[in-house]
Amino acid sequence: MTRRKKIYEGKAKILYEGPEPGTLIQYFKDDATAFNAQKKAVLEGKGVINNRISEYIMTRLNAIGVQNHFIRRLNLREQLIKEVEIVPLEVVVRNIAAGSIATRLGLTEGQPLPRSIIEFYYKDDKLGDPMVSEEHITAFNWAATQEIDDMMAMALRVNDYLSGLFGGVGITLVDFKIEFGRVYEGDFSRIILADEISPDSCRLWDSTTNEKLDKDRFRRDLGNVIESYTEVARRLGIMKEMPTVIQGGVH
Ligand code: UDP
Repeated sequence: MTRRKKIYEGKAKILYEGPEPGTLIQYFKDDATAFNAQKKAVLEGKGVINNRISEYIMTRLNAIGVQNHFIRRLNLREQLIKEVEIVPLEVVVRNIAAGSIATRLGLTEGQPLPRSIIEFYYKDDKLGDPMVSEEHITAFNWAATQEIDDMMAMALRVNDYLSGLFGGVGITLVDFKIEFGRVYEGDFSRIILADEISPDSCRLWDSTTNEKLDKDRFRRDLGNVIESYTEVARRLGIMKEMPTVIQGGVH
């Protein structure tokens, strides 16, 4: 067996060379990090759950015309994706005040926002992903004005669709982070959704109890992290076999 080439290793995922040009394999690790990687843990089974949840969401988004990098799931922890040139921005959409916006603007966690708000953060771990404006993005050439417009339109479509999807299973979509990439076709490039969408990158609250079912359980030491991620998957109607997979310690 030949060792495949690792292209990139991040905090929660590894990218390997794909079977054909223009493809990559995205591997979901069990590693969890928070507060710019100052807090770290291994949450057994997290990668398996996030692989499935992200597959489910990306597949559905593709079906409603939100083009993304997902091609197909390969196994418990891996998916085949399109290779993209990552736009160095984290795009956050918020519906309800929580996390950094609550701290920054002195809002009460749980307070509905007057309307959905989109924020951009520059992806740079050394700088702690600072929030940036469209002025910064165009001045430093991280993305063009048209690309910003495309990302904002797609982010709002993702928000509308996911709010409904989660709302239908008793989960409130508080906020989420997405990333985009460019695919080149001749002289032109197009923006598509990339990365992952999972409880690692969303705030998801039980609609009745407001119980947190996302990474805040890890950030705030609330316990039952994997159980909550599994509950999200169970409500979405995926991964009914998950508990045995976790107990079996599949890696
Ligand atoms: N988020 C993320 N990765 C990051 C920062 C934020 O996935 O590096 C997600 C986070 O889980 C939440 C949303 O983006 O769903 C907004 O996060 P916020 O700005 O409130 O920052 P945090 O409170 O996570 O520091």
